[in-house]
Amino acid sequence: MKEALLQSPIFAMAAQQFDEVADFMELSEEIRERCKWPKRLITVTMPVHMDDGSTRVFFGHRVQHHLSRGPVKGGLRYHPAVDLGEVAALAMWMNWKCALMRLPYGGAKGGINCNPREMSIRERERLTRRFATEMIPFIGKEIDIMAPDMGTDEQTMAWIVDVYSSHAGHLVPGIVTGKPVELQGSEGRREATGHGVAFLVMRALNKIDQQIDGSSAVVQGFGNVGSYAAETLSWSGVKVKGISDVTGAVWNDGGLDVTALRKYVAETGGVAGFGGAEGLDPEEMLLQECDVLIPAALERVIKEENAGKLKCRILAEGANGPTTPEADVIIDERGDIFVLPDILCNAGGVTVSYFEWVQNISRIHWTEREVLTKLETMLEGTFERLLKFAKEKGVSHRTAALCLGVHEVAEVKKKRGLFP
Ligand code: NAD
Repeated sequence: MKEALLQSPIFAMAAQQFDEVADFMELSEEIRERCKWPKRLITVTMPVHMDDGSTRVFFGHRVQHHLSRGPVKGGLRYHPAVDLGEVAALAMWMNWKCALMRLPYGGAKGGINCNPREMSIRERERLTRRFATEMIPFIGKEIDIMAPDMGTDEQTMAWIVDVYSSHAGHLVPGIVTGKPVELQGSEGRREATGHGVAFLVMRALNKIDQQIDGSSAVVQGFGNVGSYAAETLSWSGVKVKGISDVTGAVWNDGGLDVTALRKYVAETGGVAGFGGAEGLDPEEMLLQECDVLIPAALERVIKEENAGKLKCRILAEGANGPTTPEADVIIDERGDIFVLPDILCNAGGVTVSYFEWVQNISRIHWTEREVLTKLETMLEGTFERLLKFAKEKGVSHRTAALCLGVHEVAEVKKKRGLFP
């Protein structure tokens, strides 16, 4: 199984990052092995009635990396590239992210290999309900709590609540986070990840003595993370010059009207063709001069081939795993880019998910202001802890973030010992 997982380039990348950090931390062989490999890998097949009368079998996965620090937590992704290796890599990153943020969770991830853009809402509902049913033996509000990720949203989470609650015989809102506010979702969860990215970008601009007002940003991906990050930055005075999604890239040197673009995407399904902007090659967009580059779509987009050509001062990783280890080496050697590593940069999502879960199990309700203030306090504390560690140890921000996360997990495993 180890070899099979390592065949996946994304899992191999997550494993390589872990190995490098484990070497640096001089982790014992025993703790290293216990931290590295996922606890549970679950794969299910799901026959689903399609609208045209045919039946299609989909493959779905859920990987629970480890359960030593509490229930596992992580998103559910619908994308044509999903496979077990990718899901296992994302579960491992979730692990270090929850630990870095000192949330009482282990990491998990789920994914279904499908193309949600080519499916009707009824087909997506049937697929989600079938997946939730298959997952019932493995999830629970004290065991494994899902959330939205690429290709899924609040509606997806609402269907999972419905399936799980129907099975339990009573409403169990804490089974997922990122659900609609009407169904005991949290105020502020929808925008939390993008808000967190924008908050940290502004803290990073401050650290490099750059004014927020008038700075420029380029954003890859205009879904949940990218759109709220772009909008928050734009409201704060940052010129968001370029935005791309699966349909193409748009550019305006004077700054895009991000709110108008959001409306346009809701109507047309993509950024391509947006008025008041010129079209651009999406790959070229990443190489344009800007203060802040925010990859907020896929993994492995900043790679050996383009890392040396980036013209940004801050790389803010809204997506999970957007930078390959080879690109990291180049960026470290350059030394002129302030990296906000993914497990910190996009941690706003899981942090507000944690707040949502706390509100659900305590039967309380916080206002949006309360939620976002608590979020900013936690991000600020972790950001400063990370910078201090990086400076003291003379390591990159990514190494610092991973070290801090892995340390929390390793310590818990050491203290708990082995059963039996
Ligand atoms: P989403 O489905 O809401 O949006 C994804 C966006 O990426 C869409 O705009 C899509 O068109 C675009 N995209 C897809 N392929 C692309 C390509 N080849 N080039 C450019 N754009 C492309 O997904 P999301 O929830 O915003 O997640 C984006 C990333 O952020 C993922 O890596 C996810 O794991 C990570 N993330 C999400 C959350 C969350 O709360 N949603 C939290 C933490 C991390």
